[in-house]
Amino acid sequence: MATQTGQIGVTSENIFPIIKKFLYSDHEIFLRELISNAVDATQKLKTLATAGDFKGELGDCTIEVTVDKKASTLTISDRGIGMTQEEVERYINQIALSGAEAFLSKYKDQANNIIGHFGLGFYSAFMVSDRVEIESLSWQPEAKPVHWSCEGDPSYTLEEGKRKDRGTDIILHIAKENEEFLEQARVEELLEKYCRFLPVPIACGKKREWKNGKEVLTDEANIINTHDPLWAKRPADLKPEDYEEFYSYLFPGAEPPLFYIHLNVDYPFTLTGILYFPRIRNQFDMQRNKIQLYCNQVFVTDAVEGIVPEFLTVLHGVIDSPDIPLNVSRSYLQSDANVKKISAHITKKVADRLQELFDTDREAYQKKWDDLKLFVAYGMITDEKFYEKAEKFALFKNVDGKYFTLEEYKNLVGEAQKDKHGSTIYLYSTDRDGQWSYIEQAKNRGYDVLLMDGQLDSHLINHLESKLEKVRFTRVDSATVDHLIEKENQETVTLSANEQDYLRAAVEAAADGQKQSIFVSIEALGEQELPAVITQNEFMRRMKDMAALSPTGNFYASMPGSLTLVLNASHPLIKELAADVVTAKGAEVEAVDKQIAPLRTEEETLRKKTDKLKPEEVEQADKDRLSALSKSIDDLQAQRKEILDGYGKASQMAHQVVDLALLANNLLKGEELARFVRRSVEMIEK
Ligand code: ADP
Ligand code: MG
Repeated sequence: MATQTGQIGVTSENIFPIIKKFLYSDHEIFLRELISNAVDATQKLKTLATAGDFKGELGDCTIEVTVDKKASTLTISDRGIGMTQEEVERYINQIALSGAEAFLSKYKDQANNIIGHFGLGFYSAFMVSDRVEIESLSWQPEAKPVHWSCEGDPSYTLEEGKRKDRGTDIILHIAKENEEFLEQARVEELLEKYCRFLPVPIACGKKREWKNGKEVLTDEANIINTHDPLWAKRPADLKPEDYEEFYSYLFPGAEPPLFYIHLNVDYPFTLTGILYFPRIRNQFDMQRNKIQLYCNQVFVTDAVEGIVPEFLTVLHGVIDSPDIPLNVSRSYLQSDANVKKISAHITKKVADRLQELFDTDREAYQKKWDDLKLFVAYGMITDEKFYEKAEKFALFKNVDGKYFTLEEYKNLVGEAQKDKHGSTIYLYSTDRDGQWSYIEQAKNRGYDVLLMDGQLDSHLINHLESKLEKVRFTRVDSATVDHLIEKENQETVTLSANEQDYLRAAVEAAADGQKQSIFVSIEALGEQELPAVITQNEFMRRMKDMAALSPTGNFYASMPGSLTLVLNASHPLIKELAADVVTAKGAEVEAVDKQIAPLRTEEETLRKKTDKLKPEEVEQADKDRLSALSKSIDDLQAQRKEILDGYGKASQMAHQVVDLALLANNLLKGEELARFVRRSVEMIEK
């Protein structure tokens, strides 16, 4: 044939600057594209052979990738169908791309994804080459070899070629700035990444071996794709060992997974894949980007956010689907109907698998639960559909290590832990050892206590409260055992209002100076109980816990912790202490109160009068009197407080009560602990 030159047919003026400029960042994918074409050509030939159209020998169809550093070439050779001159003209020269330029500049960040989808695959070779040659011989009996050459501008040459046997060589003359693709190791790495599951053997260089402590090259071809893509096989033909082996091939050195799911759908979309559940012990184990996305066994990406629901990104494995539109932005992906269906399907499959494990062998499921729970909690909090399914297989574990489903737990405590308003209170502990005394008291009352010490449990608790009807969660140490669950007839405090008031003020003074601020309250807890206990307000504590989890922190995180010291009014010690304050300071305080009373009455009368008026109508004399009154009252109040403070600060008993309660919670430390010990000795000596 005569040498022919011509112009590559593109509708937009020139495709090359676009390829070079916009697609630069992802230029390594050229190799994936050229190998895909070689695989396609080989598969087509096999199809022709099966159909009986191709009658020759198939022979060894290995695709070879050869690096020639001296010549600066990278060659991809296949033994597929090859191309005739007409085919080169049709498939290579006429890349009819309507509006390609506009499209490419719009999606320049997704070069990786668009290239294959717009028949631009072959032209990606120009991202890394100064010149590209094709040597091809078609399988057709009469075909002549062709040679095509192009230097990355719209002109090309087409002439008779040299290839003797069926197939195609793509010869890339690698540009100076892309020399990395002339490194054997780099090329092998790329083939490993993109091509290791392709269905035609791919050879690159020679196999290496360790000999006498050195790595040496052997004579054997180095085949990249040694493993079958397990996901493409039928689940019925596979054994659990096959899945485990495949996992360790995908993630060398990883701990064995808990279990796996084989995805296999062909309608209304095509999706295959295998997802593994890793063991997740804590949040730091949650490794994302361990799901690899393939398109017909060609690796596409391992960033699958937007394709699978957020909580599923902690799973490991592979997904293969030709139906995920890769030629669009990620934000668009989320609204794509196919992606939504795929995502919903995966969620459903994962939930079904967990349900199946739960149903078939609850014992084994429970053993795995501690490793699974973070994942399930994450799913329940973030995915409504998953929550609906997980309700049946999510487990609660109590402080004795027993497991319950939500339903079972409701049956267990539903009545016994109902409060006077008809809500059921689920008691929980976040620290079995640290909260032991509270757990014990609750258990003595016949209550059950859940262990909620997981990292997402505070979020899960909030979520469950919004979902479960008439259920509230209360941490065991958030109130005294009597008040954890408010029942109808609770013991009442028998101290008089004055006694309570003086006692509270005195003990508050004794507790002043601790690291955390301490509020004092008085309850009748029963004679047998301790004289004083510390509790932490459920709401405030939760807010602080949640704030600590959130990466930005918030208002609550910076709040100082506060404790409530509950004085047991039924305890003889407290009764005695109350009586003693009254004896010691009652007369003094009452004297001050007598002075305050008339001032308050006068203040009230004046306020009633002035409140009816607009501020500018109030007489100056009244204004002056009001502020004088308020100052006098404040002064007297301060005086009153000083009297009671004086008692509290001096009372060894008051200090002892506070310290004992703190001590029971492991909150008394250092200097304060030493002072307590000294005081105890003194008191015993008396
Ligand atoms: P696509 O693969 O999406 O069709 P490409 O730009 O990658 O687009 O390739 C264009 C066409 O060139 C292919 O469809 C095929 O007909 C032809 N072709 C490319 N590489 C080869 C090859 N190695 N052997 C035979 N034909 C090839
Ligand atoms: Mg292609």
